[in-house]
Amino acid sequence: MADKKFDLVVVGGGPAGYVAAIRGSQLGMQVACIEEDNLGGVCLNVGCIPTKALLSSALLVNDCKLAAAHGITFDNFRSDLGPAQKRSRDIAEKLASGVAHLFNKNKILHIKGRGRLLGEGSVEVTSLDGGHETYRSDHILLATGSRPRDIPVLPIDDTTVWSSTGALFQQQAPASLAVVGAGAVGMEFADIYNAYGTKVTVIEALDRILPIEDADSSSTLQRSFKKRGVQFHTGAKVKDAIIGEDSVQLSFEDKNGSTHRLEVEKVLSAVGRVPNTEDLGLKENGVEVSPEGYIVVDHHLKSSVRGIYAIGDCAGKQLLAHKAMHEGVVCVEAIAGESHGAVDYANVPNCTYCHPEVASVGLTEAQAREQGFDIEVGKFPWVGNGRALAGGHTEGFVKVVRDKEYSEILGAHIVGPHATELIAEFVVGRHLEGTVEEMDRAMHPHPTLSEAVAEAALGALGRTIHL
Ligand code: FAD
Repeated sequence: MADKKFDLVVVGGGPAGYVAAIRGSQLGMQVACIEEDNLGGVCLNVGCIPTKALLSSALLVNDCKLAAAHGITFDNFRSDLGPAQKRSRDIAEKLASGVAHLFNKNKILHIKGRGRLLGEGSVEVTSLDGGHETYRSDHILLATGSRPRDIPVLPIDDTTVWSSTGALFQQQAPASLAVVGAGAVGMEFADIYNAYGTKVTVIEALDRILPIEDADSSSTLQRSFKKRGVQFHTGAKVKDAIIGEDSVQLSFEDKNGSTHRLEVEKVLSAVGRVPNTEDLGLKENGVEVSPEGYIVVDHHLKSSVRGIYAIGDCAGKQLLAHKAMHEGVVCVEAIAGESHGAVDYANVPNCTYCHPEVASVGLTEAQAREQGFDIEVGKFPWVGNGRALAGGHTEGFVKVVRDKEYSEILGAHIVGPHATELIAEFVVGRHLEGTVEEMDRAMHPHPTLSEAVAEAALGALGRTIHL
């Protein structure tokens, strides 16, 4: 059979790949997307969306526990993870199937199978029944994503030692769970399982939870979780695990070198992700790969080989869906000669959707100091915000780090209600190169949570109104 030629061939149908495919089609390209699994990638199927569905359930469970203050009481309050888990799958499946509709609408061909570079503008696709076909294009975009890191001391079986995927498919909350790794994924699952009655212990090798966030955000979140009964061991490394049928005995070493033991029913290994780049024919085709396995790209996502590009998790930097989608658009627009500039990796928001939510953009206070900026910090606690008080969620703050010389917003950090929505204000402010003064002067509606953004900005100028 003759090779089929397209203007753009995308390998991987996750957020990076499907967004790139749609943008390519909008720009008049004939596009094919090779995806071996469901369209939507990790994000829609086993990442962003199902976790957010479960976190919404967890928030409702926690709110029900506080409902008496609203005059709502339950005689026999109980919560059951099963229906929430089913709901999360329904939402994930609905959204993932929406990508197929978008492909139809944009006349993008979904080729079901596994893609591998053949060289000279060709990709070989192995279909599920073992058949092979070749597709040709001058522009081959690799968007093959990442998978959970499996560490030798804690081999993932998704029965007793879960990856994030295993943690999404449980019908019942276990009596006890050790969460190894306190990044965004670990903290989101700690929140979900704690809400459904599991005794959760978090073990983190670095000296604080959410280590990439501002130190104030980490300590505020840890305090909040502790109040709900979650236990923490930071600066602690898992050294050994004896995995039985019904339990796991973990040994971990604390920062002083002392060994501790913990017996739990299940373990979630949330120690990061590795790129899916081994079996793509990269080496054979001379595509440069970093020592960690990420495809090396330039500011327009071009790899070291002409006509081959990489976007999303497989190209490294922040492993986030919004960064992946942005890269898809930037890359395809550059291919079409419509470049609107590169991705601004310094303005990628970080979000953790546990309760309270944590979000940030730009430099932490410590990073700003290390980089030699002369800074002023504004911090506005939610207890000073009428809407937060009315809603009953007052843990946390909005914090702004300002460069005194130009009043540039160096960084913003939010812990609290709708932090992951509010952070977008700072992302836009930074994108438009706004100053802290401008963040305040743009009028914020009253009473809203967004007023705390303006108040924190004022705080960085030493003149908060409501504090
Ligand atoms: P992926 O989503 O990994 O998609 C890659 C696709 O390529 C997959 O569908 C795979 O089947 C396919 N593929 C791989 N190799 C081949 C091949 N050779 N041939 C054909 N197909 C192939 N990010 C956020 O921004 N917000 C969140 O709230 C968030 N929550 C998360 C929660 C969890 C539990 C996890 C695990 C991740 C979360 N992420 C979140 C991260 C986010 O899911 C990823 O950054 C995002 O999915 C990356 O998109 P991608 O398209 O690069 O890769």
